[in-house]
Amino acid sequence: MVYNERNQIPMVDLKEELALIKSPILAALAEVLDSGDFILGEKGAQLEKLIAEYAQASYGLGVANGTDALQLSLQALNIGPGDEVITTPFTFFATAEVIAQVGAKPVFVDIEEETYNIDPSKIEDALTKNTKAIIVVHLYGQTANMEAIMKLAKTHNLYVIEDACQAIGTEYDGRRVGAIGDIGCFSFFPSKNLGAFGDAGLVVTNQSNLYEKVRELRNHGSEKKYQHTSIGMNSRLDEFQAATLLVKLDHLDIFLHKRKEVARRYTEGLNDLLKTPPIVEDRSHTFHQYCIELDNRDELALALKNNGIASAIYYPIPLHLQPAFDYLHYKQGDFPVAEKTADRILALPISPMLSFHKQDDIISTVQNFLENNG
Ligand SMILES: *Cc1c(COP(=O)(O)O)cnc(C)c1O
Repeated sequence: MVYNERNQIPMVDLKEELALIKSPILAALAEVLDSGDFILGEKGAQLEKLIAEYAQASYGLGVANGTDALQLSLQALNIGPGDEVITTPFTFFATAEVIAQVGAKPVFVDIEEETYNIDPSKIEDALTKNTKAIIVVHLYGQTANMEAIMKLAKTHNLYVIEDACQAIGTEYDGRRVGAIGDIGCFSFFPSKNLGAFGDAGLVVTNQSNLYEKVRELRNHGSEKKYQHTSIGMNSRLDEFQAATLLVKLDHLDIFLHKRKEVARRYTEGLNDLLKTPPIVEDRSHTFHQYCIELDNRDELALALKNNGIASAIYYPIPLHLQPAFDYLHYKQGDFPVAEKTADRILALPISPMLSFHKQDDIISTVQNFLENNG
């Protein structure tokens, strides 16, 4: 056991990243303080414009977090009781939670073994006359098969909501995720690839009617003060978060590039030994997470821990087996690929500032483990 204080490697090191941009961020936060404008001000409007541009979308709307972005999207599409929404069981809980939250029924479809994203070839079997939409997740920063999904959606007259919370900047066939479907959702939770210093999220779309609807819904269903045309919520992105994100957005492409470089080195060192994340032709991968797959995942996690290296499981329980969804009556065996993956997946630390030295530590610890336990 080479446990060593100096060698502690967390999953993400936000402090290293902050050190690089601290002074412009402090200046931007001071500007907000001096402006006296804290909600729906200039910084938020500028962020909406720049993120929409970045995502190649016509419109952007800041909201309180990624979960609200998803919920507001469903509400803007008028999805509610009696409707069914298709999604993956292998994602963060929020993706399916919002479907239930608006009163609709989540319907799960198994994932592809290769990319861990929803398997388009299995979607048709899950359609009923009540199916209204698909929430596509670009898991770990890798796109789902958007061509097949958009084709299915067109054939069956379904809306497509992109849960791009882990995938800002990821490209599918040259197009950035978020505005490939009808409406797209980003999260700026601090550990996401573009992270605020608190909760924040954003919705993008090319459709003016959806833009107007979300703009109204995020602000108590109101466009004009004290006139409420629909039942909405309080879900706005505050000026401090917007100011922070504007500074960080300038660094996003470099940070994504650095993530890809770390991933490339991991894959080079580990590819012969276990399943590493595939990079599919015409699809980029921005590596919000770098996940490997192996039988003795829990033993490797322990070996890493004993060497001062963090690891994490995204996600240990597929959503169809979560107690909260008992009422949907799914059972073990319903989605074998998601279930198998949940037992085998392990995320290694990845962040833009991760030093070569630490990367090598991680690679050699995994290699040594596999030599002794492979
Ligand atoms: C983070 C995340 C969300 C939720 O975003 P919050 O900002 O935490 O509400 C939703 N879906 C996925 C896939 C996520 O990774």
